[in-house]
Amino acid sequence: MFAHKRVLVTGGAGFIGSHLCERLLEQGHEVICLDNFFTGQKQNVAHLRDNPRFEVIRHDVTEPINLEVDEIYNLACPASPVHYQFDPVHTVRTNVMGMLNTLDLARRTGAKILQASTSEVYGDPDVHPQPETYWGHVNPNGPRACYDEGKRCAETLCFDYHRQFGVKIKIARIFNTYGPRMLPNDGRVVSNFIVQALSGKDLTLYGSGQQTRSFCYVSDLVDGLIRLMNSDDSVTGPINLGNPNEFTMLQLAEKVLEQVGNGNKTSFLPLPQDDPRQRQPNIQLAKDVLGWVPTIQLDTGLVKTIDYFRTVLQNAGQAYAEQLDLRARKSA
Ligand code: NAD
Ligand code: UDP
Repeated sequence: MFAHKRVLVTGGAGFIGSHLCERLLEQGHEVICLDNFFTGQKQNVAHLRDNPRFEVIRHDVTEPINLEVDEIYNLACPASPVHYQFDPVHTVRTNVMGMLNTLDLARRTGAKILQASTSEVYGDPDVHPQPETYWGHVNPNGPRACYDEGKRCAETLCFDYHRQFGVKIKIARIFNTYGPRMLPNDGRVVSNFIVQALSGKDLTLYGSGQQTRSFCYVSDLVDGLIRLMNSDDSVTGPINLGNPNEFTMLQLAEKVLEQVGNGNKTSFLPLPQDDPRQRQPNIQLAKDVLGWVPTIQLDTGLVKTIDYFRTVLQNAGQAYAEQLDLRARKSA
C-alpha cells in the first residue's frame, strides 16, 4: 500500500519519536532511529530491535552525519521545560546546529524533511486560538527562549534551505502531546499529575492553575505527522497539529484525580517565568490540507496513559516519584 522508503527519525528513542518509528515500520519502511539518549530511552524502542528494517544510531544532531535516506523527521530536542532548560546552550545548539546538519543531509540526498516545530513559537499568545498566520509573542531572552527561539530559528533555516536550495520541507507546529512512553520524571504536566496521583502525592499546580493547554494523544499526532510528510511537495506548512479541546490545569488535575482516585490533594507552587497563559490550536489548515482531525479525546487518552504509568511504577517502585519530589522542591 505504501511505497517502501528509508526514513531517518532523529530523536527516535524519545516519547513521540518511538511511536513514530513503530508506525513507520508497520507501514513497511526501513527506519533509522538516531538519538543521543538525553531524554530518550533504549527501552522505548527495545520492542523494535528484532525488526530487520530497524536500526538505532547513537549520535548527537549537533554533529554532521552522512546517511542515505529518502525522508527525515527531525524530532531531536528535549521537549519538557525542565529538560530543555537543564543545558539551555545545548538546547540552542540542538535546534540550530541540529537543523543545519539535518537540512544539509536532506540537501545532499534529496530527502524530504519534516521539522517538529512547536506551539511555543507563539510564546505567550495574545491571539487565541492560534492560527499559523500569527507571528507570536516570545520573550527572546527568558528561560524558555533557548527552546522557543531555537525552534523559531529552525523554521527560518527550513524556509531558507527551501528557497535557496530547493529542499523539500514540511513544518509541523506540535501542540501539547501526551501518552505512554513519556518519562515518569519528564516534568511535563500530564506525566507529573499521573505519577503524583498514582504515588499518593499532592498534585503540583503551578500558579493559580487557570492557565490553559490543549492536549493531543500521541497516536493522533503521529498520524498527522505522517500525513504531512506524505502531502504534496507544495505543502511546506507550517501546519498546527494538536487537539483543540482546551482545559485549565485545574480541570486536568480534576480529570486525573477522577480516574486515579487516590484521595490526593492539590498543592500550589509558583508559576514558572514566561509560562504561557493560554494555548489552543486553530487546526483548520490541517483539516483542509491533510484531512486530519484528532480522534482521541482527553478522557480516553488519560485512561491509556494512566495504565502505562501504573505498569512503569509497579516495575520501578517509588524511585521515580522521589525524583519527582526533588524536581518539585527545586522549582518551588
Ligand atoms: P522527548 O524529550 O521525549 O524526545 C526528544 C528526543 O530527542 C529524545 O529521545 C532525546 O534523547 C533526543 N535528543 C535530544 N537532543 C538531541 C540531540 N542533540 N541529538 C540527538 N538526539 C537528541 O520529547 P518529545 O515529546 O518526544 O518531543 C519530540 C519532538 O517534538 C521535539 O523536537 C519537541 O520539541 C517536539 N514537540 C513536542 C511536543 C510535545 O508536547 N510532546 C510539543 C511540541 C513540539
Ligand atoms: N504545570 C503544572 N504542574 C506541573 C507541571 C506543569 O501546573 O507539575 C503547568 C505549567 O506551568 C504549564 C502547564 O502545566 O502552565 C503545561 O506545562 P508543561 O510543562 O506540560 O508544558 P508547556 O508549558 O511547555 O506547555
